[in-house]
Amino acid sequence: APLLDVRDVTLQYKTKAHLVTATYRVSFQVFKSDRYVLLGPSGCGKSTLLKAVGGYLNPTEGEIRLKGKAVCRPGPDRMMVFQEFDQLLPWKTVKENVMFPLLASGKLRGKAAEEKAMQYIEKVNLAKFANHFPHTLSGGMKQRVAIARGMAMEPDVLLMDEPYAALDALTRRKMQDELLQLWDDTHFTVLFVTHSIPEAIKCGSRILLLSPHPGQVKAELDSVPRDV
Ligand code: ADP
Ligand code: ADP
Repeated sequence: APLLDVRDVTLQYKTKAHLVTATYRVSFQVFKSDRYVLLGPSGCGKSTLLKAVGGYLNPTEGEIRLKGKAVCRPGPDRMMVFQEFDQLLPWKTVKENVMFPLLASGKLRGKAAEEKAMQYIEKVNLAKFANHFPHTLSGGMKQRVAIARGMAMEPDVLLMDEPYAALDALTRRKMQDELLQLWDDTHFTVLFVTHSIPEAIKCGSRILLLSPHPGQVKAELDSVPRDV
Protein backbone atom coordinates (compact mmCIF):
# COMPACT_ATOMS: atom_id res chain seq x y z
CA ALA A 1 0.00 0.00 0.00
CA PRO A 2 1.20 3.54 -0.65
CA LEU A 3 2.36 5.64 2.28
CA LEU A 4 0.71 8.70 0.81
CA ASP A 5 -2.25 8.57 -1.52
CA VAL A 6 -3.34 11.78 -3.24
CA ARG A 7 -6.50 11.14 -5.16
CA ASP A 8 -8.18 13.44 -7.65
CA VAL A 9 -7.31 16.53 -5.66
CA THR A 10 -8.51 19.97 -6.68
CA LEU A 11 -7.46 23.00 -4.66
CA GLN A 12 -9.02 26.41 -5.10
CA TYR A 13 -8.43 29.78 -3.51
CA LYS A 14 -11.34 32.13 -3.10
CA THR A 15 -10.17 35.70 -3.55
CA LYS A 16 -12.46 38.76 -3.55
CA ALA A 17 -12.96 38.73 -7.31
CA HIS A 18 -12.01 35.22 -8.40
CA LEU A 19 -11.93 31.57 -7.74
CA VAL A 20 -8.34 30.52 -8.48
CA THR A 21 -7.84 26.87 -9.31
CA ALA A 22 -4.30 26.16 -8.12
CA THR A 23 -4.44 22.38 -8.56
CA TYR A 24 -6.87 20.52 -10.77
CA ARG A 25 -7.61 16.81 -10.34
CA VAL A 26 -4.14 15.64 -9.41
CA SER A 27 -3.47 12.08 -8.29
CA PHE A 28 -0.25 10.42 -7.20
CA GLN A 29 1.03 7.86 -4.74
CA VAL A 30 4.18 8.02 -2.66
CA PHE A 31 5.71 4.78 -1.41
CA LYS A 32 8.11 4.30 1.45
CA SER A 33 11.65 5.54 0.67
CA ASP A 34 10.54 7.39 -2.47
CA ARG A 35 12.16 10.69 -3.28
CA TYR A 36 9.06 12.01 -4.92
CA VAL A 37 9.29 15.24 -6.92
CA LEU A 38 6.55 17.65 -7.89
CA LEU A 39 8.06 19.42 -10.90
CA GLY A 40 6.62 22.26 -12.90
CA PRO A 41 6.82 25.94 -13.76
CA SER A 42 6.10 28.69 -11.30
CA GLY A 43 2.37 28.98 -10.65
CA CYS A 44 1.43 25.41 -11.57
CA GLY A 45 0.30 24.70 -8.01
CA LYS A 46 3.26 22.82 -6.52
CA SER A 47 3.37 24.72 -3.23
CA THR A 48 -0.38 24.57 -2.86
CA LEU A 49 -0.37 20.82 -3.34
CA LEU A 50 2.48 20.39 -0.85
CA LYS A 51 0.69 22.56 1.71
CA ALA A 52 -2.39 20.39 1.32
CA VAL A 53 -0.32 17.27 2.00
CA GLY A 54 1.10 19.12 5.01
CA GLY A 55 -2.48 19.70 6.18
CA TYR A 56 -2.26 23.49 5.97
CA LEU A 57 -5.00 23.58 3.30
CA ASN A 58 -7.92 21.26 2.73
CA PRO A 59 -8.73 19.98 -0.77
CA THR A 60 -11.76 21.54 -2.46
CA GLU A 61 -12.31 18.13 -3.98
CA GLY A 62 -10.61 14.78 -3.71
CA GLU A 63 -8.75 13.14 -0.89
CA ILE A 64 -5.32 12.95 0.67
CA ARG A 65 -4.53 9.89 2.78
CA LEU A 66 -1.45 9.09 4.82
CA LYS A 67 -1.22 5.43 5.86
CA GLY A 68 -4.88 5.14 4.97
CA LYS A 69 -6.04 8.02 7.17
CA ALA A 70 -7.39 11.26 5.71
CA VAL A 71 -5.12 14.26 6.25
CA CYS A 72 -6.95 17.30 7.54
CA ARG A 73 -4.42 19.26 9.59
CA PRO A 74 -0.67 19.57 10.13
CA GLY A 75 0.95 16.80 12.11
CA PRO A 76 4.35 15.58 13.30
CA ASP A 77 4.09 12.70 10.81
CA ARG A 78 4.60 15.27 7.99
CA MET A 79 7.38 17.72 8.79
CA MET A 80 7.86 20.55 6.30
CA VAL A 81 11.01 22.42 5.28
CA PHE A 82 10.56 25.73 3.47
CA GLN A 83 12.86 27.64 1.16
CA GLU A 84 13.47 30.63 3.42
CA PHE A 85 16.31 30.60 5.91
CA ASP A 86 14.49 32.47 8.63
CA GLN A 87 12.52 29.50 9.85
CA LEU A 88 14.88 29.04 12.80
CA LEU A 89 14.27 30.59 16.19
CA PRO A 90 16.99 33.26 16.54
CA TRP A 91 17.20 33.09 20.34
CA LYS A 92 17.82 29.35 20.34
CA THR A 93 21.04 27.53 19.42
CA VAL A 94 21.26 25.03 16.58
CA LYS A 95 20.75 22.16 19.01
CA GLU A 96 17.82 23.88 20.75
CA ASN A 97 16.22 24.60 17.38
CA VAL A 98 16.43 20.95 16.37
CA MET A 99 15.17 19.82 19.79
CA PHE A 100 12.23 22.21 19.75
CA PRO A 101 9.65 20.16 17.79
CA LEU A 102 10.68 17.01 19.66
CA LEU A 103 9.93 18.72 22.98
CA ALA A 104 6.91 20.72 21.84
CA SER A 105 5.20 17.64 20.38
CA GLY A 106 5.98 15.63 23.50
CA LYS A 107 7.71 13.02 21.36
CA LEU A 108 10.87 13.06 23.48
CA ARG A 109 12.07 14.74 26.66
CA GLY A 110 15.32 15.96 28.18
CA LYS A 111 18.39 13.91 27.39
CA ALA A 112 16.58 11.73 24.84
CA ALA A 113 15.54 14.81 22.83
CA GLU A 114 19.07 16.15 23.01
CA GLU A 115 20.56 12.89 21.78
CA LYS A 116 18.10 12.60 18.92
CA ALA A 117 18.81 16.22 17.91
CA MET A 118 22.58 15.64 17.97
CA GLN A 119 22.22 12.48 15.92
CA TYR A 120 20.66 14.47 13.06
CA ILE A 121 22.88 17.52 13.51
CA GLU A 122 25.80 15.13 12.92
CA LYS A 123 24.10 13.73 9.82
CA VAL A 124 24.07 17.22 8.27
CA ASN A 125 27.69 17.79 9.36
CA LEU A 126 27.02 20.57 11.83
CA ALA A 127 28.13 18.96 15.09
CA LYS A 128 30.74 21.67 15.65
CA PHE A 129 28.01 24.29 15.42
CA ALA A 130 25.49 22.72 17.79
CA ASN A 131 25.87 25.50 20.34
CA HIS A 132 25.98 28.35 17.82
CA PHE A 133 23.11 30.73 17.20
CA PRO A 134 21.49 30.83 13.73
CA HIS A 135 22.70 34.35 12.87
CA THR A 136 26.31 33.12 13.01
CA LEU A 137 25.67 30.52 10.27
CA SER A 138 25.68 30.81 6.48
CA GLY A 139 22.50 30.36 4.46
CA GLY A 140 23.40 26.82 3.49
CA MET A 141 24.14 25.89 7.08
CA LYS A 142 20.82 27.32 8.32
CA GLN A 143 19.01 25.31 5.67
CA ARG A 144 20.79 22.17 6.89
CA VAL A 145 19.64 22.93 10.43
CA ALA A 146 16.05 23.19 9.18
CA ILE A 147 16.43 19.84 7.41
CA ALA A 148 17.93 18.24 10.53
CA ARG A 149 15.05 19.60 12.57
CA GLY A 150 12.50 18.07 10.19
CA MET A 151 14.31 14.75 10.04
CA ALA A 152 14.84 14.51 13.80
CA MET A 153 11.09 14.11 14.16
CA GLU A 154 11.44 11.01 11.96
CA PRO A 155 8.21 11.84 10.11
CA ASP A 156 6.54 9.38 7.77
CA VAL A 157 7.28 11.83 4.99
CA LEU A 158 9.51 14.90 4.90
CA LEU A 159 7.98 17.69 2.82
CA MET A 160 10.34 20.18 1.23
CA ASP A 161 9.28 23.27 -0.69
CA GLU A 162 12.15 24.34 -2.97
CA PRO A 163 14.59 23.90 -0.09
CA TYR A 164 17.59 24.99 -2.16
CA ALA A 165 16.03 27.74 -4.27
CA ALA A 166 17.56 30.54 -2.21
CA LEU A 167 21.11 29.13 -2.30
CA ASP A 168 23.90 29.91 -4.74
CA ALA A 169 24.60 27.25 -7.39
CA LEU A 170 27.68 25.77 -5.69
CA THR A 171 26.06 25.47 -2.26
CA ARG A 172 22.94 24.02 -3.84
CA ARG A 173 24.98 21.31 -5.56
CA LYS A 174 26.82 20.50 -2.34
CA MET A 175 23.55 20.22 -0.45
CA GLN A 176 21.94 18.05 -3.12
CA ASP A 177 24.90 15.65 -2.86
CA GLU A 178 24.76 15.74 0.92
CA LEU A 179 21.05 15.02 0.94
CA LEU A 180 21.36 12.13 -1.51
CA GLN A 181 23.98 10.65 0.81
CA LEU A 182 21.62 11.14 3.75
CA TRP A 183 18.80 9.44 1.85
CA ASP A 184 21.09 6.52 1.02
CA ASP A 185 21.88 6.17 4.72
CA THR A 186 18.40 6.62 6.16
CA HIS A 187 15.91 5.74 3.40
CA PHE A 188 13.76 8.65 4.39
CA THR A 189 10.60 9.24 2.40
CA VAL A 190 10.65 12.69 0.86
CA LEU A 191 8.16 14.67 -1.14
CA PHE A 192 9.70 17.79 -2.60
CA VAL A 193 8.84 20.60 -4.90
CA THR A 194 11.12 22.13 -7.50
CA HIS A 195 10.94 24.03 -10.77
CA SER A 196 14.42 22.78 -11.71
CA ILE A 197 14.53 19.87 -14.15
CA PRO A 198 18.18 19.03 -13.33
CA GLU A 199 17.37 19.02 -9.61
CA ALA A 200 14.37 16.75 -10.16
CA ILE A 201 16.44 14.31 -12.23
CA LYS A 202 19.36 14.36 -9.82
CA CYS A 203 17.46 14.11 -6.54
CA GLY A 204 14.18 12.42 -7.41
CA SER A 205 13.31 8.76 -7.70
CA ARG A 206 9.86 9.55 -9.12
CA ILE A 207 8.74 12.72 -10.83
CA LEU A 208 5.28 14.15 -11.30
CA LEU A 209 5.22 16.83 -13.97
CA LEU A 210 2.56 19.47 -13.41
CA SER A 211 1.44 22.10 -15.87
CA PRO A 212 -0.69 25.15 -15.16
CA HIS A 213 -4.41 24.51 -15.27
CA PRO A 214 -6.04 26.55 -18.09
CA GLY A 215 -8.66 28.02 -15.78
CA GLN A 216 -5.95 29.13 -13.44
CA VAL A 217 -4.13 31.03 -16.20
CA LYS A 218 -7.37 32.75 -17.15
CA ALA A 219 -8.02 33.73 -13.56
CA GLU A 220 -4.54 35.25 -13.37
CA LEU A 221 -5.03 37.17 -16.62
CA ASP A 222 -8.41 38.41 -15.43
CA SER A 223 -6.83 39.71 -12.26
CA VAL A 224 -4.31 41.93 -14.11
CA PRO A 225 -5.39 45.53 -13.51
CA ARG A 226 -6.77 47.08 -16.68
CA ASP A 227 -4.57 50.16 -16.61
CA VAL A 228 -1.22 48.33 -16.91
P1 ADP B 1 3.84 27.05 -7.54
O1 ADP B 1 4.27 26.58 -6.19
O2 ADP B 1 3.84 25.96 -8.57
O3 ADP B 1 4.60 28.25 -8.00
P2 ADP B 1 1.42 27.94 -6.19
O4 ADP B 1 0.85 26.74 -5.56
O5 ADP B 1 2.17 28.89 -5.35
O6 ADP B 1 2.32 27.48 -7.43
O7 ADP B 1 0.27 28.75 -6.91
C1 ADP B 1 -0.66 28.13 -7.80
C2 ADP B 1 -1.71 29.15 -8.22
O8 ADP B 1 -2.49 29.51 -7.10
C3 ADP B 1 -1.16 30.43 -8.80
O9 ADP B 1 -2.02 30.83 -9.82
C4 ADP B 1 -1.20 31.37 -7.64
O10 ADP B 1 -1.32 32.69 -8.07
C5 ADP B 1 -2.44 30.91 -6.89
N1 ADP B 1 -2.33 31.17 -5.44
C6 ADP B 1 -1.39 30.71 -4.61
N2 ADP B 1 -1.63 31.10 -3.34
C7 ADP B 1 -2.77 31.84 -3.39
C8 ADP B 1 -3.55 32.52 -2.40
N3 ADP B 1 -3.22 32.52 -1.11
N4 ADP B 1 -4.66 33.18 -2.83
C9 ADP B 1 -5.01 33.17 -4.13
N5 ADP B 1 -4.33 32.54 -5.10
C10 ADP B 1 -3.22 31.89 -4.74
P1 ADP C 1 26.87 29.48 1.98
O1 ADP C 1 25.55 28.97 2.38
O2 ADP C 1 27.22 30.79 2.60
O3 ADP C 1 27.09 29.55 0.51
P2 ADP C 1 28.19 27.06 3.12
O4 ADP C 1 27.02 26.48 3.76
O5 ADP C 1 28.86 26.19 2.09
O6 ADP C 1 28.03 28.49 2.49
O7 ADP C 1 29.27 27.40 4.23
C1 ADP C 1 29.95 28.63 4.29
C2 ADP C 1 31.19 28.48 5.11
O8 ADP C 1 30.88 27.88 6.35
C3 ADP C 1 32.18 27.63 4.39
O9 ADP C 1 33.29 28.42 3.99
C4 ADP C 1 32.61 26.59 5.38
O10 ADP C 1 33.96 26.76 5.71
C5 ADP C 1 31.80 26.83 6.62
N1 ADP C 1 31.12 25.59 6.93
C6 ADP C 1 29.95 25.14 6.45
N2 ADP C 1 29.64 23.93 6.92
C7 ADP C 1 30.68 23.60 7.74
C8 ADP C 1 30.98 22.46 8.53
N3 ADP C 1 30.17 21.41 8.61
N4 ADP C 1 32.13 22.46 9.24
C9 ADP C 1 32.95 23.52 9.17
N5 ADP C 1 32.73 24.62 8.44
C10 ADP C 1 31.62 24.65 7.72
